[in-house]
Amino acid sequence: MICKTCGKEIRDGAKGCPYCGRPTSNEDRLLFKLLIACSVGFIAILCILAILYMVYVLVMMIKLTIYY
Ligand SMILES: [Zn+2]
Repeated sequence: MICKTCGKEIRDGAKGCPYCGRPTSNEDRLLFKLLIACSVGFIAILCILAILYMVYVLVMMIKLTIYY
């Protein structure tokens, strides 16, 4: 069979391509996509939390400079 990602010849029934490391079966591809989606979502949530925290700290600092 031929790897769908890099186009190199790989052994039939192989779970992943030895050249580019991408999974070959549809289930593995789905799992791979799911894993990437999960990690991207996790990083996005972390970024949003970090931005919210920075905004919170900034607001508190502005309040402190106004009242004191
Ligand atoms: Zn490949």
